[in-house]
Amino acid sequence: MDEEELRMMGGEYKPLQDENEGSLRPRTLKEYLGQDNIKQTLSIYMQAATLRREPIDHMLLYGPPGLGKTTLAGVLAAEMGAQMRMTSGPAIERPGDLASILTNLNQGDILFVDEIHRLSKSVEEVLYPAMEDFALDIMIGKGPSARSIRLDLPKFTLVGATTRVGMLSNPLRDRFGIVFRLELYTQEQLKDIVMQSASRLNVSIDEKGALEIARRSRGTPRIANRMLKRVRDYALVRASGEITEQVAREGLDLLHVDKLGLDHIDRMVLRAMIEKFGGGPVGLDTLAASTGEDAGTIEDVYEPYLLQLGFIMRTPRGRVATKLGYEHLGLTMPKSRETLNEQLRLEMEENE
Ligand code: ADP
Repeated sequence: MDEEELRMMGGEYKPLQDENEGSLRPRTLKEYLGQDNIKQTLSIYMQAATLRREPIDHMLLYGPPGLGKTTLAGVLAAEMGAQMRMTSGPAIERPGDLASILTNLNQGDILFVDEIHRLSKSVEEVLYPAMEDFALDIMIGKGPSARSIRLDLPKFTLVGATTRVGMLSNPLRDRFGIVFRLELYTQEQLKDIVMQSASRLNVSIDEKGALEIARRSRGTPRIANRMLKRVRDYALVRASGEITEQVAREGLDLLHVDKLGLDHIDRMVLRAMIEKFGGGPVGLDTLAASTGEDAGTIEDVYEPYLLQLGFIMRTPRGRVATKLGYEHLGLTMPKSRETLNEQLRLEMEENE
């Protein structure tokens, strides 16, 4: 991913949305590739809800950006034959905003709230009775004569999405009957996603070309799709239009995409661990302070990919860079470090 494509919003990681992203969004569970455990469980819940003729339970989806939380909510709506209303935590400023969204829902609708960890406390309080009893408490009048009346709401399903599950308040979290954590995708799954998207875009690509894009996509479908579009342009101008491994490699090199798709913050975190802390163990907060990144963002957004690649380990004593991590940055890991890492690995295994 290009560095300029990352921007910070309110201290959080926020990749720019591709305005054409919608065209590649899967609409059915069958087109939604990967996340097999979630899909299996979800289809049971969906069938049960259909048999009971009730909307599915409120659902919390969490995981790094671009892994398919919004897409999954849309798939759920389509599969249940329901309407989806989309909003986000920061967009709902006052309790009244939420009240008006809720009263406009129809039976069975799916209300998707992105970045749900950013709801304010007063808005959250309106949400509790809505989730629990499908009711809205409204205060009428002021002072001693004020009284509260309760309005019934249609039975709906709230789907909340967050990259920062640790920032959700306990009472809100407890009100979700279903909680799913989305995992980073494997290269094989991303390859299938690239092939599927290419066929939607009418782009010709072979398996090796798709795999090359998959390899550099940071475990993330949004990045895979974006790179596919750029490589498609390169292929059109420089090659015959067909994306082969060679064409994909050239196109991505031109974009200065790291061979493994690491972005500059991934690299900065890894480099800080190695250069400032001798490879660790280093605590999350210390690492955050030294890189100027938010601790929660490092933990929820950057670490998962570094862990998936085996570039870092999370030991009880702190984060540690591995030999592979050193090598990726072109550095050699000192011998003494190897021994220490081995010791930490054993400690970790004992703890498990
Ligand atoms: P999030 O809400 O987690 O940030 P999105 O749902 O917006 O992520 O997904 C980003 C893009 O990635 C979507 O437009 C879609 O094209 C693609 N995508 C996500 N998950 C999948 C999947 N499981 N299968 C195929 N494509 C996916």
